[in-house]
Amino acid sequence: MNVETNDRESMNMDAAREYLQRYYGYPDFREGQKKIVDSLLHGRDTLGIMPTGGGKSICYQIPALMHPGLTLVISPLISLMKDQVDALTTAGINAAYINSTLSGKEVNERIRAAKRGDLKLLYVAPERLELDWFREEMASLDISIVAVDEAHCVSQWGHDFRTSYLSVAPFVAELPGRPIVAAFTATATPEVMEDMQRLLRLDDPQVFVTGLGRDNLEMSVLRGENKREFVLNYAASHTHQPGIIYAATRKEVDDLCQRLQAHGLLAGRYHAGMSDAERAESQEAFLYDDIRVIVATNAFGMGIDKSNVRYVIHYNMPKNMESYVQEAGRAGRDGEPSQCILLFSAQDIMTQKFLIEQNPQDSERKHNEYRKLQQMIDYCYTTRCLRSAMLDYFGEEHDDKPCGTCSSCTDDRELIDITVDAQKIFSCIHRMRERFGVSMVAAVLKGSRAKKVLEYGFDRLPTYGVMSNRTEKEISETINVLISEGYLALTEGQYPVVKLQSGAAEVLKGQREVMQRVPRPARTAGSTRSASRRDSSPSAVNETVFEQLRLIRRELASKEHVPSYIIFNDATLREMSVVCPQTEDEMLQVKGVGEVKFRKYGRPFLEFFQNGPGVTAESDDLYDYE
Ligand code: ADP
Ligand code: ZN
Repeated sequence: MNVETNDRESMNMDAAREYLQRYYGYPDFREGQKKIVDSLLHGRDTLGIMPTGGGKSICYQIPALMHPGLTLVISPLISLMKDQVDALTTAGINAAYINSTLSGKEVNERIRAAKRGDLKLLYVAPERLELDWFREEMASLDISIVAVDEAHCVSQWGHDFRTSYLSVAPFVAELPGRPIVAAFTATATPEVMEDMQRLLRLDDPQVFVTGLGRDNLEMSVLRGENKREFVLNYAASHTHQPGIIYAATRKEVDDLCQRLQAHGLLAGRYHAGMSDAERAESQEAFLYDDIRVIVATNAFGMGIDKSNVRYVIHYNMPKNMESYVQEAGRAGRDGEPSQCILLFSAQDIMTQKFLIEQNPQDSERKHNEYRKLQQMIDYCYTTRCLRSAMLDYFGEEHDDKPCGTCSSCTDDRELIDITVDAQKIFSCIHRMRERFGVSMVAAVLKGSRAKKVLEYGFDRLPTYGVMSNRTEKEISETINVLISEGYLALTEGQYPVVKLQSGAAEVLKGQREVMQRVPRPARTAGSTRSASRRDSSPSAVNETVFEQLRLIRRELASKEHVPSYIIFNDATLREMSVVCPQTEDEMLQVKGVGEVKFRKYGRPFLEFFQNGPGVTAESDDLYDYE
């Protein structure tokens, strides 16, 4: 449906902003949203790359409201559809979904509603586009936009390839008037971007990559932690914050969950080895805050639209940056400060390689997976700003300013260049044919006269004694640093042998520098550790008021049987607790309070402020759910 046929006045950004305020209660679009909405209002095919929580849905929902006719949303997950439709309906927007959970009668009713023009948005799974009768029904509707969510599923390069996404383009081509096609995903590698444009047959699309580096997310990579202890301590000190802990295997999930529960924490678990009913129950419990922390494999999350997840901990390194960013991005979708913590150990590399080898696939794909794995490993070892490293990986433009909050930026140890030492060590290991342990390598570099060194004739190697100005112990320590940085690996067994890893070759060729963090001599030790300086809630927020608002929300939520964040999210409650609105108008000024929502849920909150928020209870008593 062409934009030209519409009143131009009514299709501009000012009008869009009015819709945004009226239905969602937000005064303005985020930077990335603005461009995408504008592009769709101009009738252009659009590809939007946005991280989870970037606010994708609004990008097509507002144009859906403004264009005549229906917006068909292709969405891969049933739970996600239901959430979206619930949220829209709560905001006073006519929306429905059609999926396999409905009876034939219900499906027909919804199609009839669409035909009557009673729906602005209709959510369907891609598989449905493969049904002849469904395509015929759709062809009789006035569809102005086809919005494709999780569009990376169309690409075999991605990690969630779904054949049925290939039906989207033929489906669109069959419709009588070509609708605008909008595609959205959080995955932005060049191969996937190319595939999405080609396989969805986007027509001269405008492409926008935005907001991957959400500045409310504090990214950390922690190496050499005692993972189990870390997770227990972290969860125990964040008991009133929802969190997700991703682990690589089902066994690990079960084990961790049990430990958390044994410590009296409200923990649940989720993995593909559980029954459908068990999984649904866990997911539900997490959504409704009946459990605080969920331990899960990567099977968990695609359908999760919970906006107040305060932390995501990766117990193991994921297989690639795409997975990592997607999973970590489930933290802080409401824009509030949140933690993404990756606990890395060299064992994770072995696990991922094993998984690649296990999976039967052609050599090109395998090679691709190894390449992606190496990039993930590089991220875990980098001393650069993690946000910059991530944005570079996805090709998003950014300024060179370090983020200031990631574990690299907040690491206050001194960074020194140890490239030359590393070259000496690698070269020596190579000349010793990678058959010896750390102390033997150190002895040779030191120029030791030990019997074993001389027996092997290592005193004739060019690298013999090239580090004679150091003690053997110092040399061993540097070798261990290089192991922990991933340039070297130890074999298993009683006499571990040092092996060169792929990064070492680049260092030897002078293509890569090696940096090492060393403590600054003048500083007092034991000051910072990434995990201990968390919980940065703005001091202006009155915690007690905030907790009382949460109680009101919780009561409403259980009465209405919707998850709390559907009513108002944490960011909205925080703002309320700061401005303490006294009138309806003041309440409507709070971000996240739209007119319809106010009418439905606003009263109890307003009355709370009008009666003067008294401190009635010890704040601990306010956590009724603990
Ligand atoms: P995505 O689908 O990209 O994962 P959502 O559409 O669910 O993200 O949005 C994430 C969160 O950001 C939601 O809580 C949403 O209400 C909020 N949000 C979206 N757009 C805005 C905006 N313009 N201003 C304030 N909050 C917004
Ligand atoms: Zn940083």
